[in-house]
Amino acid sequence: MYVMILAAPGSGKGTQGKVLAASLGIPQVSTGDLLRAAVKAGTPLGTQAKGYIDQGLLVPDELVVELIREILDSASGRNGVLMDGFPRTVAQAEAVDRILAGKQARVDHVALLEVDEQELVQRLLARAAKEGRSDDNLESIQQRLRVFHQQTEPLIAYYERQGVVRRVQGSGDIDA
Ligand code: AMP
Repeated sequence: MYVMILAAPGSGKGTQGKVLAASLGIPQVSTGDLLRAAVKAGTPLGTQAKGYIDQGLLVPDELVVELIREILDSASGRNGVLMDGFPRTVAQAEAVDRILAGKQARVDHVALLEVDEQELVQRLLARAAKEGRSDDNLESIQQRLRVFHQQTEPLIAYYERQGVVRRVQGSGDIDA
């Protein structure tokens, strides 16, 4: 089963993705976590990605598509994957559709987490104080929200055409 969580920064993709992946028995793959790990490890991918992440911009499609391709080709991705934070552009969605089609598979479900914008900013600022992520400052948060509206929101229509979108209320507490 191939499932995606599509949502703005701060909406709880990582948190809800963990719960959903565990209940479905498939691995959760967060491109954001993989990229941050690459930055920390100082790999060539990390070196290329760091500037984009810190500015709140998207890392180029080729780099993240390659990351996902490796996972989908590996043994751990064979029975399905929950993708958290991927795809973020129509080009990424088209690329993953092609990769899955090569495996006689497709995107089965897209969970769209809906949280209002004021709450998103408050959550991200609270996380900044707790976790100290390099992109959780007000300037980068605003940039990430702009990027979401411009580059990622068009994916809602893309997946609605495939009939796989479920809208989920993302405010309130985590268990609800
Ligand atoms: P996240 O942890 O999902 O909020 O991602 C943090 C940052 O990593 C984003 O602001 C982007 O710079 C980068 N990133 C994560 N996933 C992707 C993706 N699918 N495409 C491009 N950039 C990404």
